[in-house]
Order: sequence, then C-alpha cells, then structure tokens
Amino acid sequence: MSERGWKLVYQGVDPDGESLREALFTLGNGRFATRGAAEESAADEVHYPGTYLAGGYNRMTSRVGDRDVVNEDLVNFPNWLPLSFRPAGGTWLGEAESEFVDLRQELDLRAGILRRSFTVRDSEGRETRISSRRLVHMAHPHLAAIAWEIVPINWSGALEIRSGLDGTVTNWGVARYRELRGDHLEALEVGETEGAIFLHVRTKQSRLEVALAGRTRLRSGGAPISTAGEVEEAVGTISQLFTLDASAGCPIQVEKTVSLRTSRDPAVGDLVEDALRSVERAGDFQELVTSHEAAWASLWDRYDVEIDVSAETDLDPHPIQLILRLHTFHLLQTASHHTVDLDASVPARGLHGEAYRGHIFWDEMYLFGFYLLRDPRIARALLLYRYRRLDEARAYAAADGYAGAMFPWQSGSNGREETQIIHLNPRSGRWDPDHSHLQRHVSAAVAFDVWAYVRATDDRAFLARYGAEMLLEIARFWASLATEGSDGRFEIHGVMGPDEYHEAYPGTAEGGLRNNAYTNVMAAWCIDRARQALDLLDGPDRAAVVRRLALDAEELERWERIVDRMTIPVLPNGLIEQFEGYGELEELDWDAYREKYGKIGRLDRILKAEEDSPDRYKLSKQADLCMLFYLFDREELAELLAKAGYELSEERLLETIEYYRRRTSHGSTLSHLVFAAVLDDLDRETSWKHFVEALRSDVDDVQGGTTPEGIHAAVMAGTVRHVIDRYAGLRLSAERVTLAPRLPTGISRLRFAVRFKDVLAMIEIDRDRVRLEAPERSSRSIPVRIYEEDLEARSGAPAVASTREA
Ligand code: BGC
Repeated sequence: MSERGWKLVYQGVDPDGESLREALFTLGNGRFATRGAAEESAADEVHYPGTYLAGGYNRMTSRVGDRDVVNEDLVNFPNWLPLSFRPAGGTWLGEAESEFVDLRQELDLRAGILRRSFTVRDSEGRETRISSRRLVHMAHPHLAAIAWEIVPINWSGALEIRSGLDGTVTNWGVARYRELRGDHLEALEVGETEGAIFLHVRTKQSRLEVALAGRTRLRSGGAPISTAGEVEEAVGTISQLFTLDASAGCPIQVEKTVSLRTSRDPAVGDLVEDALRSVERAGDFQELVTSHEAAWASLWDRYDVEIDVSAETDLDPHPIQLILRLHTFHLLQTASHHTVDLDASVPARGLHGEAYRGHIFWDEMYLFGFYLLRDPRIARALLLYRYRRLDEARAYAAADGYAGAMFPWQSGSNGREETQIIHLNPRSGRWDPDHSHLQRHVSAAVAFDVWAYVRATDDRAFLARYGAEMLLEIARFWASLATEGSDGRFEIHGVMGPDEYHEAYPGTAEGGLRNNAYTNVMAAWCIDRARQALDLLDGPDRAAVVRRLALDAEELERWERIVDRMTIPVLPNGLIEQFEGYGELEELDWDAYREKYGKIGRLDRILKAEEDSPDRYKLSKQADLCMLFYLFDREELAELLAKAGYELSEERLLETIEYYRRRTSHGSTLSHLVFAAVLDDLDRETSWKHFVEALRSDVDDVQGGTTPEGIHAAVMAGTVRHVIDRYAGLRLSAERVTLAPRLPTGISRLRFAVRFKDVLAMIEIDRDRVRLEAPERSSRSIPVRIYEEDLEARSGAPAVASTREA
C-alpha cells in the first residue's frame, strides 16, 4: 500500500504554521488526547502543549469589565510531554534559540505514531541529532509513551536529560479567551517512587482528579543505563534530571512512559497508586508500539475508506486519500471504543484545542453516522450522554415556559446551557447580546440521531429504556413551542436557524425569528417520529413510557394536528422562505464586499465592524433551509413538506438550493459539506468544488487560524460520509444495506466496511461492479439492495452487480 496515503509530513521549521501542525498531530484514544507540541516546548506564541480528557470540564467565574462571567471549559490537564536535554552546562533544548536543521515531522496514520527528527546546533556549535516517536496508546487507554534517540554528532562529554510532568498549565490556547480565568487545576501532590515520578491534581470546581505517573529509562548502545536521576519538584510540577556520559556518534535512547488515571475512570482505586502500577507494568516502548499498532490495524479494518482518485482530480500536496484517513484518524482519537464506558460526547473541535471551550453542539448530527455505520456502541454512547442530561433539558424547557425537554445549544459537563448570552465588544466597550442559544433546533439533532440509531440497529431495548423517552420529551417540547394561528396552522416563534447571521428582525432588540422553515419542518418530523416510536414499543414497554410521561390521547391528538398543519413560509417566487420575513430583507452587494474584503466568510463580523447588521440582509452563514435536503432523502422530504401543504418539485429543488447558495458566505465549515451533498446529483461540478473546500477545511486551515484551536470534527466526519453516502449511495437500515453508487469521473474505486447487525460487510465499488462481501465464517447472510435489485451476500458468496454510469 502506498505510504503517500498514510503519512502527513512537514519539512522544515515554520513558527507561524506550528500551531496548525500541533492540532493536526494530536494523538489520542477516545479517553484523552494530547496536541502534537514538541516535547521540549512550553506554551508560548508558537507552541501550545494541551492535554484534554473526554468529558473533562470545569466551570469558573471571571471578572470581565464590570461583570462576572461564568464559563465552563474543557480543561487543559497536566502536560505529560516534557522532555529535554543539554550538553552539561549548555542551554536546554527548547529554552533558548537553538538552530534546528533538517526538521522532519511525520504523522503515521496507520501506526498512530508521531515522529520527529532534527539536528540541533547550540551556540557553541555542538550538533546533536534527535529522533523522536510518540504514541497515545489505543489498546491501553491510560498509557502514552515517547522514545527519543539522541546522537551527539561532533561532541563528547556530559549530557543531561530532564523528564517531567507539569501540572501548572492553564487554559491559554485561544487568545480571545485569555481574559477569562484558565487556572482550572489545583495541585494535590507530587512525588517519586523507585523508578517513577507522579503528579496528582484536581479541577477546582468539578473536582475531577487526575494522577499521572511517569517512568523514564535510558539506554546507551542497547544497554540499560542505571541512574536514579535527581528529582526536582515544585508545586504542581516534578521532573527527573539524569546525567550521563555521551560520545560522538553513540546513540542514547530515552523512553518515557506515562500513565494517566482519572477519578471518572471505571475500575479505579487509589489514583496515584493505580497510575504508578500501570507504568510499572507497561512493557518497553517497542512492546507498546506493537500492541498499539495492532489496535490501530483493527480500527483501520473497520473504518478505512480506500479511494482511487485520478491524478487530474486529486489534490496537492495532500491527496484525498490522505485527508480522508486523517479525518478518520482524528475522529477515532476523539471518540472510540474507549469512550463507550465514559459519560462523554464529541466536542465540536475534538480533543484537539480549546475553541468553543470544548462544548458539544448540534454537530453530533453530522458525526453520528460516522460511528453508527461501523460501531453502533459508540453511537449509543453519544446518545446516552444526552439521555443522562434529559432532566437538565426538562428543567431548561420549564425555565423558559415550555413542556418536555429542550437541549442546550452548547453542552458540557452536566447539560446545562453553556452558551454566553452577552459578550464584551473590545472595540466599543459595549456588552453585545448573543442570541445563538435560540438555536432550538439542537433538540431536533438529538432526536434525529436517536431515530437513526434505532433504524439502523433495531435496538428495541434501547428504544424502550432511553430512546422513546428522549423522542417523546423532545416532541413535547416542540408541541409546546408551537402555537396555533387563527388559520389553524401551527407556528414557531422566537428561534434562530442554523444560519447564525440572523439573530433578530432588523432594528428589534428581542432575539429570534418567526417560522424558521428548517426548525418548523424538524419540529414536525420529531413529533411524527415520536409517535412512531411509541408504536414500535410492545404493550408493557409502551404502557410504561406512556405512564411515566403521563401522555394522554388529547396530547397525541394535538401532535397529529401539528404534524399535518405546520407553517412553511413561502417567498413570492414560490420557493420556501428561510424564515418569515426573509424575503423582505435587502439584497447584499456581494461583489462589492468580495472586492473590498477578499475573504467574506465571516460577513457578520465585517458588517458589525461597519456598524451595520447581518440581520438586515438576505444572506446566510451556512446552509439553513438546505439542511433539509441534506438530512432527508427526496421522497421522505417531499412527503414531509406535502403534509404541511408544500409541493417540492425537482425544478423547485434546484432553484431553491441555488437561491440560497448564492446568498451564503460559508462562514462555517459545515456549509460546504451540506452544499456538496445536496448538489451531488444536481450539479456535480459545483458539488465537487464544495466537497474540495470541505476536505481542505482543516488540513489547509482554510478559515485562517481556526484549526490550530481545534479540528472541526463535524466536517471531518461529513467528508468521510459524503464518500460513503453520496458516491457509494449507501443507506443502512435494520432490514438491509442499500447501495446505489454514482462515482464521480475522477474516482475509479472505493472500498470500505459497514456493520450490518453484528457482522462487518466489506463493500468494493469500481467502474464495472459493485460487490458486497460477508465476512469469512459468518453464518449471517446480508440482504443488500444494489440499485433496485435485491440480493443476498453470504460468507464465500458475495453479492455482485454491475456499476451504472453516474
Ligand atoms: C457553526 C455552528 C456549529 C458551531 C460548532 C459554528 O461556527 O455555525 O453550526 O455548531 O460552529 O462547530
């Protein structure tokens, strides 16, 4: 297999680009992740070592201007990386301006290993070659390790090595949050035992404890060097200092193994003792590499999407194959089988940085299928994160005067609303309102995922115990938000759609809009699905949930009316209106803005800086109404809209997409993804352009500075799913796998796996045939519909059909 599709490589020092590399070089295992900062670095304008735990939040109050602001952050936990060296009496690597020569950084996606090599020349001309390897273990989720090889090139003499654990770190990764408190950790203890050092910290408010133990071993010429090392400690930080003799040309090996335990882990006793015991038991670096690579190999068997792209179509310098794997890699490092027994979901920006403070948004709707198609246990775990916060969502609804459950726009530890409602504008010194929490559609995203899970798995036990309650409580919320107009149609007021540029009607102080079409349709869909979920339950299960939620016939009857009579605003030209009143807004002079500002992704900021407001114009940050075409297949959507009295014809569909696309600035990476998908069968060329933009979002940091603060997990998942859902035309249900491939001209082959019930089906599509194979020795046959033909794949007897022209 070509290495080209597996390795992300950078050559040469680039201080401006280092923070992007650090985000893209993050290593993790679904429990914790650590940015790819150099071992010898500390937080400064170039480097930012950050370690984050799935579900590791803390809340603090900061004084900003004349107000107290409460914020919950995904905490930057102690840095386990510190490792440095110096020729005795010289300067430590990383602490002074040393000259780096021949720097090469390489992320090996297949192995899950980050490699770095360089020669460093100090002020006295001493040159030393360093080669480093790093992993965060995918089989032993508490372990991480670093191996260095140090070769003095033109000098001999005493060499010092320092290896430490640093609990004095703060949340400092996002410049615009620096006015807020980031000192989330308090140090409890540091110490040493024979052969290891340890550090124990606790978050100040959430009282989450973390213990780290680190073991450093040295070798020279393959033989162990026994030196106890001198321990240096201060509050919250500890390191070991080793002194040894080095000779020019003779390599010295350093192996640092770290165990990280948290008070939220299952099977914990005394955290420090547990951490020490696991580093003591850990094998040497090579053994750890072997078991780690084996774990990744099993993940790749399940998650890899192989793609053959022609040279003319492919991207440069990062080929599409590499980007898809990079995306898969980072998603699996954010949530994996190790996340299943935690209480966590996927932060919008991964475990890769501090943007959006590690909060969880509706983005999970884009992410969900990525896991569901391959490992439904992970998908289920993400739903349980929401289920455990259902009471908080009920309280949120009640506090705003609604029934049922209203999930927060931004969610963190306990599910309360984490969205800020005002921001201090540094330019004007004014506190400006932020209405984005009015994006009530986040509750529809939760319901959408519950339904997708049940449809793909037919997990009735889940539905009875958790799913139906979530669906019904969300439906109840929508029903209470909907009001009946004099014409007997239902309306929803006071919300924002996914397009965050419109927060209010021009000139009004009150936030929210009337009848956002996306929200209205999703509300009707949620109510409809909740009723169906009830019908899927057997007698006692149904009776239990009806009793628990005190559902009665009258309530269900009102729901039925809402589904049949939901308002869909329509423009004078007959197209669906994004929200009531959109049609009366002014047209923006897009060309003039493009000319004046070049990049106009964040038109909201541009307009606000001009003392203007995006509320006044026909413009959108991202797909809003068009989300409907993304989420639903055509027939399903046409049916949904027909219920509300709107006829969606093919011509109108393309016209609608184009109408809004031309008025969208794509200020969110999600936007390109959605337009790529909805245009895939209508306008391939334009669709492809959007797909390429979506692919480039993180690897090229297309928004100019957002990726260094964390990956965009939803666009990463969305691009992988785009290939599977659109090019392979895959739909998964508990009855069958459906495939209707339409390969774009430049793509000649796809190969990937999906999980059907309890077996993994391998799918291969090329220009001639579509093939679905059941695993060896499996007794289960897999029903598959290829285009319109119903087939069955059995072990040794794949289902095969001819590929149709796209
Ligand atoms: C987008 C939201 C998204 C959030 C987190 C924002 O820029 O507009 O739709 O949920 O980022 O990814």
